[in-house]
Amino acid sequence: MSEVTPQQTFDLVISGGGATGWSLLLSLQTMLPADKPLKVAFIDSFDPNKAQPHPGFDARALALSKQTLQFFKTMGIADDIAKRGTAIKTIQVSDKGAAGQVRLHHSDYHETELGMVMEAQDLGAVLLECAERNLQEQALSHIELVRLQPDKIQLAETRRDSIQITTESGHRLTTQLLVLAEGTQSSSKAFFNIDVTQKNYQQHAIIANVVTELPPNNTAFERFTASGPLAFLPMTEQRSGVVWSVASADVEQLLALDDDNFIQQLQTQFGQRLGKIIKVGKRQSYPLNLLKSDDSFSHRVVCIGNAAQTLHPIAGQGFNLALRDAWQLAKCIANTVQQKQDIGAYQSLCQFKAERKQDQQQTILLTDSLVHLFSNNNALLRAGRNIGLLLMNNKQKLKDGFARIAMGQRSGAQL
Ligand SMILES: Cc1cc2nc3c(=O)[nH]c(=O)nc-3n(C[C@H](O)[C@H](O)[C@H](O)COP(=O)(O)OP(=O)(O)OC[C@H]3O[C@@H](n4cnc5c(N)ncnc54)[C@H](O)[C@@H]3O)c2cc1C
Repeated sequence: MSEVTPQQTFDLVISGGGATGWSLLLSLQTMLPADKPLKVAFIDSFDPNKAQPHPGFDARALALSKQTLQFFKTMGIADDIAKRGTAIKTIQVSDKGAAGQVRLHHSDYHETELGMVMEAQDLGAVLLECAERNLQEQALSHIELVRLQPDKIQLAETRRDSIQITTESGHRLTTQLLVLAEGTQSSSKAFFNIDVTQKNYQQHAIIANVVTELPPNNTAFERFTASGPLAFLPMTEQRSGVVWSVASADVEQLLALDDDNFIQQLQTQFGQRLGKIIKVGKRQSYPLNLLKSDDSFSHRVVCIGNAAQTLHPIAGQGFNLALRDAWQLAKCIANTVQQKQDIGAYQSLCQFKAERKQDQQQTILLTDSLVHLFSNNNALLRAGRNIGLLLMNNKQKLKDGFARIAMGQRSGAQL
């Protein structure tokens, strides 16, 4: 890794060192031609010397789709991921108080697994370790990386051929392309007049790890309850990662419960699928909004990941979509580098935008529709949901379509 001097020119600046920013770097390491090195500055506002944990790499359990695992395989990090993750072999979807349920099993799709569960902090550790390992390997060192952390963009000025950036710690950077992977609260978008549209779902997600009487045996449960969707994601031994969406009005009260009372509430919603819930870990909550950048592009600037769109976790699509964006952007940059063209050129960014539009729109629409359908206690909708789940379980075609969405195989993104 190189030292940064106060004034320096880069091909690319990535601002935001969460799962999306690191995925972009790893995708670039996989695709860039070895004879054409790229000079990259990587800015992250998180201060690793402070006591608080990284905001993106916490204890939340993430469901990684089969397609995400394939991307990781191509990046050469599948084994590192598998060591810390738990395979999802069965997915069971049900509605509390109704008979309808859907069950998907990996063998029906001739797959070894349908996806994988990993704690965000483990995913972060793997992404960082693998990117560092690649930087040290001679054959993969076609990125010259400068890290600025903790730091953030204080001022940015767009010129025809470049972006001029001044960071809070006083560095002045010139770059052809700036990628904002700063998450939901991305502050740098303001420099480029990138506005956002937000919808508040009036829900919070509570996450916690639990130990249950029965082992989850690689089964992921998604249960729709009157209070909101509830997921139990399988982890090692008898542990599951819980993601429970509840009305925002109830979140304080639920978080204030002691372990026994919290377990009792959770057990009432989840039932006895894994026997008794024996133990619950630390609870944490997140407000749930749909956030869309009105245009995730500006001259020489692209937003990806949660900075471009933040989704409700109901369908576990946020990071999976972010990775598809990062992968496609890396492809676009690598092609432009190969052709010795300007990586921030308008045509190149337009191509990326056109390639990603459909998947982004469909994933946002699917997630938003599921929230409305499954977070609703209206009797008609509940009846419809139940019939839908019954139908889906018995109609192989419907079930296959659902399985393909769960595995990320409907995204149109190409390896
Ligand atoms: C409860 C819950 C469950 C979820 N479950 C799933 C799931 O099962 N599957 C799935 O695919 N997705 C899931 N998601 C979504 C997933 O967690 C996010 O999509 C993903 O973590 C987004 O990563 P990101 O890097 O884009 O943003 P973040 O993780 O927010 O990272 C942003 C980074 O930018 C840095 N930063 C912020 N501001 C600045 C700045 N101004 N300058 C420089 N750096 C800055 C931050 O320090 C951070 O490092 C879930 C989300 C939640 C809340």
